[in-house]
Amino acid sequence: KTFEELGVNEEIRRAITELGFEMPMPVQEEVIPYLLGNRNDVVALAQTGTGKTAAYGIPLLQKLDASSNATQALILSPTRELCLQIADDLNDFGKYIGGLHVAAVYGGTSIQNQIKELRHGAQVIVATPGRLIDLMNRKVARLDRVGNIVLDEADEMLNMGFSDSINEIMAGLPEDRNTLLFSATMSREVEKIARKYLNNHKEIVV
Ligand code: AMP
Repeated sequence: KTFEELGVNEEIRRAITELGFEMPMPVQEEVIPYLLGNRNDVVALAQTGTGKTAAYGIPLLQKLDASSNATQALILSPTRELCLQIADDLNDFGKYIGGLHVAAVYGGTSIQNQIKELRHGAQVIVATPGRLIDLMNRKVARLDRVGNIVLDEADEMLNMGFSDSINEIMAGLPEDRNTLLFSATMSREVEKIARKYLNNHKEIVV
């Protein structure tokens, strides 16, 4: 199948064609049409390099309302490097979406610029859990309009001890949302998170 056949819109197709994407990778073929539907939770067992960022990133971008400044999608990831990589990828896929703003927030660096960036308005936040909680407590990150939450490299986040932080963040999200969990491995802890936060989810193994 082509990206067009999966339901990807013209704006995003133009951007990914420029990136050299010709055909969808397997995880994209499964995840993209599923997420472009309505209420859809997903657990995907996928390693880095399988195309997972585009698999969740493309439908998230296609579904958001870029004319609103409200944060509509949240991606949690374990490290600063991964946050920056994901934010770069989303900006690439969303190059032709006018008014799109993606903010990357992570610890180990000054919070002041991140506060400015969020105050400016970001439809998508890519965050490490600890720094996001700090920004939530300061009422700078507002998550009451988040319709899609992605836990990327969930096993790694749990290994790093972010379990309590994840629970705290999830408690601050609207009930009516999609939850997407991507993980390289399915540990007992990952299963626990999936049971707790996902409804009728589709399971994908790449
Ligand atoms: P990821 O698993 O998200 O880290 O992606 C792995 C690499 O594959 C990245 O460099 C992507 O830009 C690239 N990629 C993702 N989807 C496609 C595609 N459909 N065709 C070609 N390259 C892709």
